[in-house]
Amino acid sequence: MKCTFIIYRFDPTVDTEPRYQEYIVEAEPTDKILDCLNKIRWEQDSTLSYRYSCAHGICGSDALVINGRIELACQKLVRDFKTANNFVIEPLPLFSVIKDLVVDLDPFFGKHREVRPYLISDEDPPEHERLQDAQNQAFFEPALRCILCASCTSACPINRANENYLGPAALLRAFRYIADSRDTATGSRLAQLDNENGAWGCKSMWWCTDVCPKGIPVTKCIAQIKRFIKEEEKREK
Ligand code: SF4
Repeated sequence: MKCTFIIYRFDPTVDTEPRYQEYIVEAEPTDKILDCLNKIRWEQDSTLSYRYSCAHGICGSDALVINGRIELACQKLVRDFKTANNFVIEPLPLFSVIKDLVVDLDPFFGKHREVRPYLISDEDPPEHERLQDAQNQAFFEPALRCILCASCTSACPINRANENYLGPAALLRAFRYIADSRDTATGSRLAQLDNENGAWGCKSMWWCTDVCPKGIPVTKCIAQIKRFIKEEEKREK
């Protein structure tokens, strides 16, 4: 079938304004949107820029706006859309465009680094690995599914209003370590998030949860951080 793709194009090194370019692609209903972008780039226009790597919903590099909604291009098939085979493809909002569909994710990963995304323990290293008990692992398991695609942060209206807000992905990663019983930096992690740029910045809009391609209950995990902060306050009184 013939599909029409209207794609956002912008090269800040030569263009003064973004524009939209139309391409016609011969596609199967089972083709991924990423397959269609590849057909355009490989067969029609090698100047079109976009990111992808694994093409199987694991690397998180091909998050885009497809017909107005944030999706992974490798997780959506042509037949998933009821738009008469017409597609409008745009870059993730919030971030600045490097070229076409490629955005600058440095600020996103910078905030991820701010929450110290690694296990901190003041206990002596064991002879083998630090074993986790199954119950505790199950508690924060949803957060382990995050592939850092930035869809949630891009969708979050708070992030658009407050550039210092850590955002849902960084908060989710913080939750993962706060909830991990092997981590001993819980107090300083909670203190870092006890403000409007941290957990209290979240107003439970649920947009992050709605767009997450891994089905992670992001808003609930951030709410859990707020509960942890309140419990810590009670303990200190
Ligand atoms: S929480 Fe979901 S949307 Fe956010 S970065 Fe992780 S996988 Fe992507």
